[in-house]
Amino acid sequence: MSKPDSFLLGDLEISVVRSARRKSLSIEVGHHGVKARAPISMRHSTVVSFVETKENWIRKHLANIPAPEPELVLESGAFIDLRGAPYRLEVVQGSTKPVQLSPYSDQLECLGTITVPIKRVSKTSVIGSAERSVSRKLTRWFKTQATDRLTQRTAHFASLMSIPNNKSLVISVRDYKRRWGSCDHKGALSFNWRIIQAPDEVLDYVVVHELAHCHEFNHSKLFWAIVAEQMPDWKQRQQWLERNGVRLYRF
Ligand SMILES: [Zn+2]
Repeated sequence: MSKPDSFLLGDLEISVVRSARRKSLSIEVGHHGVKARAPISMRHSTVVSFVETKENWIRKHLANIPAPEPELVLESGAFIDLRGAPYRLEVVQGSTKPVQLSPYSDQLECLGTITVPIKRVSKTSVIGSAERSVSRKLTRWFKTQATDRLTQRTAHFASLMSIPNNKSLVISVRDYKRRWGSCDHKGALSFNWRIIQAPDEVLDYVVVHELAHCHEFNHSKLFWAIVAEQMPDWKQRQQWLERNGVRLYRF
């Protein structure tokens, strides 16, 4: 891949990323701006005029991108979401114990505490090293929570949805940048661990969506009919993800 160049579309800067493998032009609109991905030999003027014809589409998409959530500072007192509810983070230094969840009986502002023990951080250590330890340990713990819940919900829906060999389904949990799950042709399901932060009904939607791909490997009408049969209100759940998905990337 060569270095990106760029041009202006009104007040918008469009960066052009060229690749030898690419056969056609595509436009990507995201938090970080607008990118045109182009074949290496395509003339610059062709790229510009194609992007110009898509200006309305680009502006519409830019307007719909939710504002990025500020990154969470992982220190005691911060609130983190688990299964759609807030928990108070408690960081304890000088301990190698596992992460612990203590639910509150009196539900006030949150459902409980998630305690993350880390090694003692000396005054001379690099700034942010305590937070990095918390992030590593907390992420590992969230992945375990996600694996347990997703395994259970996948088994539940797989039998309801008559998935072949639903007893031997294997799921894995991954660190995806921009997807919630995937299903390959062999029926191996992978999920984004961050979905465990979302409400249960949203996690269920992601499970049903991926399982529906075991029957239909596309997003055809038939595919959505399979999803709707299992989950008539799938659209609301999908909208929650579109609106709040960025919130699940705060740490
Ligand atoms: Zn899909």
